[in-house]
Amino acid sequence: MINLKNILNKGELDREDIITLLSSESSEDLGLLKSKAYEILKEYCGIKVWLRGLIEFSNICVNDCYYCGIRKSNKSLNRYLLSKEEIINTALWCAEKGFGSIVLQSGERNDKNFVDFVSSVVSEIKKMTISDKLPEGLGITLCIGEQDYNSYKKLFEAGAHRYLLRIETSNEKLFREIHPPEQSFQRRVECLKMLKDIGFQTGTGVMIGLPNQTIEDLADDILFFKSIDIDMIGMGPYIIHKDTPMANSESLMKNENYKEHNYLLSLKMIATARIFLKDVNIASTTALQAIKPFGREAGLSFGANVIMPLITPEIYRKEYQLYEGKPCIEDLAEDCYDCSVQRIKSIDREVGFDEWGDSMHFISKNSKAD
Ligand code: SAH
Repeated sequence: MINLKNILNKGELDREDIITLLSSESSEDLGLLKSKAYEILKEYCGIKVWLRGLIEFSNICVNDCYYCGIRKSNKSLNRYLLSKEEIINTALWCAEKGFGSIVLQSGERNDKNFVDFVSSVVSEIKKMTISDKLPEGLGITLCIGEQDYNSYKKLFEAGAHRYLLRIETSNEKLFREIHPPEQSFQRRVECLKMLKDIGFQTGTGVMIGLPNQTIEDLADDILFFKSIDIDMIGMGPYIIHKDTPMANSESLMKNENYKEHNYLLSLKMIATARIFLKDVNIASTTALQAIKPFGREAGLSFGANVIMPLITPEIYRKEYQLYEGKPCIEDLAEDCYDCSVQRIKSIDREVGFDEWGDSMHFISKNSKAD
């Protein structure tokens, strides 16, 4: 029998070890995984949890991903784009509340107007949030999909310093199954390379529990994160959205407990990624909370160190549903803020107020380069 303790005490894990960790089932093994992840987190990153106010500023999207509720073919939602003023006001509120950073997320658009719009919003926010507390303004992470090199560069020069672009799965065949032919795995990898080249702190991630995805695929996802030397990870359970082609997936329909399954697998992915990659930032994503009310706290306990309270103005929240059961749709930004802070404290972790909370991986990489 393989002893989990022996694996956890090894210096360097290999693919087989990762597969074993991801296959842990007994509560004893899950407990071991969780405490090892916490130990590594404490040693490499500290126990502070970084807040990123999440502003979903538009659900207009040119892509048609088979899993996503805001895909362009879904006609059952109202499309919106927040005005520059609305975004800036929301960001100012975040800065005032002590969020060191925000995430600006939207559906994908690649037209010049859009890129110009986002760049000018970013530079305004940067200018307007400089204060004693935040001498360089709010930290800004963008999550607006695949763009060309010049657009990425423009956005970086405007002042955004982190970028999230999920690879969704590192298995190319599976990637093709969940995207239309216009979208390519290679292109995503190229985008990630461009982002790193330009100097962004770069994040990626995957959906966990996709139809036809295996434990081996997930182990390869973690190896992929390492191979492209990623700074941040945002990953979470795949959850069906009824207005998508994947809602009829036979393999998941047969499994009524698929949400529970994907939830637990996501916690194991977070812990294993923490143990293997050590000093990257890992977000405990909202999708965890869509399955269990305290899902995000569980993600933090399994080694995540970033949380993204929803700050999107209330009237737009219901139009930005990537999957079913999105929590906090009826709440106010204030509620999400209070709730996140309380919940972080309830699990004996500290909130990193007024700090960017950059990835230690990125920081040490760059200090070595100096
Ligand atoms: N357009 C941006 C933002 C996309 S939404 C971009 O391309 O990066 C952010 C993430 O939500 C996606 O990368 C995907 O991983 C996740 N997502 C979309 N649909 C989902 C679903 N049904 N279940 C779980 N996660 C989903």
